[in-house]
Order: sequence, then structure tokens, then C-alpha cells
Amino acid sequence: MIAENIKMVQTEIVAACARAGRDPQTVTLVAISKRKPIEDILAAVAAGIRHFGENRVEEMREKQPHLAVTTSVTWHMVGHIQSRKTRYIPGMFQVVHSIDSLKLAVKLDTLLAENQQQLTGLIQMNVSGEQTKSGLAAFGWEQDATLRKNLFDEVQQITTLQHLKIRGLMTMAPIVDEMEQARPVFQSLARLREALVDTLHIELPELSMGMTDDYPIAIEEGATMIRVGRAIFGERTY
Ligand SMILES: *Cc1c(COP(=O)(O)O)cnc(C)c1O
Repeated sequence: MIAENIKMVQTEIVAACARAGRDPQTVTLVAISKRKPIEDILAAVAAGIRHFGENRVEEMREKQPHLAVTTSVTWHMVGHIQSRKTRYIPGMFQVVHSIDSLKLAVKLDTLLAENQQQLTGLIQMNVSGEQTKSGLAAFGWEQDATLRKNLFDEVQQITTLQHLKIRGLMTMAPIVDEMEQARPVFQSLARLREALVDTLHIELPELSMGMTDDYPIAIEEGATMIRVGRAIFGERTY
């Protein structure tokens, strides 16, 4: 089941890349294994997946002791990180997609410095404006000069940190009926990346965007990392 699902997602990735004139090698599939058991993760590893994501520190703390065999796997944190749980992050994850405040970034960087470690980070942007979504406030960044200045200042401060290495941006699209409706959000994130690169003279090669319901559109708009859960592991039961 899981192996077949992965094949289907990979076929969709290739098709989306063909539509966009992109090389499929430029898209990393991150399998989101939240609420799914260890055996599902191992089945996905057996089917060739090397990038996994979780969204809760507690859940990863429970899973990690059982994942010692998955040494060639990169773990991605994609959920909001509560301040008091920050200290667990460097030992469990190699990439954090959910850097959603300067405060969190500084806290992580200090922790990393103390242990002489490094970590790859992506800055989460709330480009859709939904109240329920985390991320730096980026809704309307093209129209609102004040918001844009504050946003760019915050990004600049985050990207000067030495141990947390910022490599790009992440966003979540709203839940919509048709995946096409998510496109403007992905386009906004892609344009924001360009503007930040041009203005701050930084490198932001990664765009983490697209989930089960909308990843083909995200790929068409430049996603380099897609975060796919249900299309691989099936619906989650809570
Ligand atoms: C759960 C989750 C995903 C995967 O969602 P699916 O709809 O199952 O593909 C992606 N990104 C984040 C941040 C998530 O929390």
C-alpha cells in the first residue's frame, strides 16, 4: 500500500515537473509521518524515502528510540515549536521548516552555539493571512510597505545567525476545494523569496510548499520540498 502510494506520488511529481519544465531531481519529497506508527515509516524507508517530517516534539521523542535503524534518513520538523521544547530539536531534527519568529530563531541558535552544532532552517511565512496559521506576518507584503519593512528586517536578523543556517522559506496554503485555488499563495511565496534575495543579498534556494491536496501546483510554482502525508500513509485517525 505505502510503496504503491509513494510510486503514485513520484509519478505526479514527474508529471508536474514536466509541465513546469523542471528536473524532478530538484524536488525533495518529505514524507510526513505524524500520527503514523513506526512500521509505516520503515515501509516508506524500504520503498526508498529518505526524508521524513513530524510536527510535534513529543511524538518524535516517543518515536526516535525506535528509529535507530533509519540512519540514512533526514528528519524535518514542520510544526510550531513551543519555547520550552526547543532544546529537544537539535538532537532530533536536521531541518526545521517552522522558524516562525525571531525569538525562536535566536533561542535555537543559542542552543546550537552552546553545543557547537548547526541546523538547517526555513522561515515559515504566513502569506495567506489565516489567523490559525503560524509564520511571520506576510499577508499583503507586496502592497503594504510598513509590513514589508518589518518583515524584511526580521528576516535579515534571522539570517545573520551563525548556527541556524537559513536556506529558504516555507508556507502552508489554506484548505480549498480545488487545488488551483492554492496557486496564488505559492506564487506569493515565490515572489517573496525573489524580493528577499534581491533586497537582502542572501541565498534562499529552498521553497517548502505543497501538501497532499496541492503539491502538483506547488511544484509548478517552484517548490523544492513538498511535505506529503496522507497521499503516502493514508488518512490520519486522531
Ligand atoms: C500534516 C502536515 C503536512 C502534510 O499534510 P497532508 O495533507 O497529510 O499531506 C504538511 N505540512 C505540515 C506543516 C503539516 O503539519
